[in-house]
Amino acid sequence: MKLDVNVLRYLSKDDFRVLTAVEMGMRNHEIVPSELVERIASLKHGGTYKVLKNLLKYKLLHHDASKYDGFRLTYLGYDFLAIKTLVNRGIFTGVGRQIGVGKESDIFEVAQEDGTILAMKLHRLGRTSFRAVKSKRDYLRHRSSFSWLYLSRLAALKEFAFMKALEEHDFPVPKAIDCNRHCVIMSLVQGYPMVQVKQLQNPETIFEKIIGIVVRLAEHGLIHCDFNEFNIMIDDEEKITMIDFPQMVSVSHRNAQMYFDRDIECIFKFFRKRFNMIFHEDKGESDETEVDENSRPSFYDITKDANALDRDLEASGFTRKEQNDLDKFIEGGVEKSEDSDEDEDEESDDKEQTCESNEEENVDELKSLQLQEKKSSDGVEAEVKLDDTEKGENSEDKDDAVSDEKEEEDDPELVKQLGKQRRRAMAAARGGRKSQSSRNSYKDKGGRSQNSKIHSNMSGW
Ligand code: ADP
Ligand code: MG
Repeated sequence: MKLDVNVLRYLSKDDFRVLTAVEMGMRNHEIVPSELVERIASLKHGGTYKVLKNLLKYKLLHHDASKYDGFRLTYLGYDFLAIKTLVNRGIFTGVGRQIGVGKESDIFEVAQEDGTILAMKLHRLGRTSFRAVKSKRDYLRHRSSFSWLYLSRLAALKEFAFMKALEEHDFPVPKAIDCNRHCVIMSLVQGYPMVQVKQLQNPETIFEKIIGIVVRLAEHGLIHCDFNEFNIMIDDEEKITMIDFPQMVSVSHRNAQMYFDRDIECIFKFFRKRFNMIFHEDKGESDETEVDENSRPSFYDITKDANALDRDLEASGFTRKEQNDLDKFIEGGVEKSEDSDEDEDEESDDKEQTCESNEEENVDELKSLQLQEKKSSDGVEAEVKLDDTEKGENSEDKDDAVSDEKEEEDDPELVKQLGKQRRRAMAAARGGRKSQSSRNSYKDKGGRSQNSKIHSNMSGW
């Protein structure tokens, strides 16, 4: 998926308002009925129709009319909401190049006002495994239901919480800066994943250091569970940083020993293969470095404090309930499939999806948008101008946000539905229909009124 942040420049506050309305609707609808979007966004003069069209054009929303007329966010739409929130908070001002593509994440550089570069990790749980989620649907239905939005947000929250807690206990991890929705902002690690390193000055020292981290993690009650050459970064001074924490488990997990041994085995295997290290257990006669036979630590011999990091983790906002939900997903047998198909969630049953903790933020954002709206009455004109600008520059960049989404604009059914919706909205605006109760709850009462400098800020990149 391409994250074309230039699109941000062409999005008006009304666009964000409707995007936020869809996000809120997704708390309990997989596909949010058009009427609900319209009601939550409560744009004047039936403006929602035009905005929806714009959002579909940029693939920030997906239209679904299979059961009823409705919309859902795409990953790109979710990305933009997170980015805008973080920009508004002053965490960074621009998005730069992509520096990593993980199994279920995309990593970008972002820049702060003073030029400091940070790393932004956008979690994409379900991107590679949605088929697996679907195949486990029975399993999931018995618990609670999950959406990619919720799962990705949990993964980000967990990663952020663990990174912070680990940092506080002097583990070599990136500095956790902030987190919103499925997005984690952290310091940029100067270095490369170990998998790219062909030579080390002192492989034994690095090996011992890395094994030492796994052991110390266990002493603090944790197992990384994906501790390998892809998730260990090393710089020119051979300083180690570990990354990637959404899958970490407690030493009290029923499979803890297996996970621990697997992490250790990954390191042994890598150093054996890449740096020709020979371990005692290899029993090979060789004149190459031999590492002490006690190097392979035993899980049972480690004094483990299963609660050592609990307080820090709770303090970071990652509670047991969230841990349980994420565990259920991960342990629900999510075999990685190579299919990259966000649209796998099209099957719309009425499963409940939960993204509660975004609600306050959403309301704040809507309040803020309404305040901005009061200040500026020329929103519609501005939007038209932006549309015009876009046509020339930006048309080829918005492709594969969601690979198989059709050009909704050309969809006659959609045009018809949107037309209907617009007429309804117009009627409502003229007073033909009572305004809905939810509208008042988003009225500005002096809420956070952040600037909307995102357009100019992002344009620097
Ligand atoms: P995933 O969970 O998808 O595997 P990772 O957190 O492992 O994602 O990140 C994927 C890649 O992105 C890493 O291998 C690394 O190259 C790069 N990366 C991740 N975080 C950082 C960071 N803080 N600084 C620099 N590069 C990073
Ligand atoms: Mg990784």
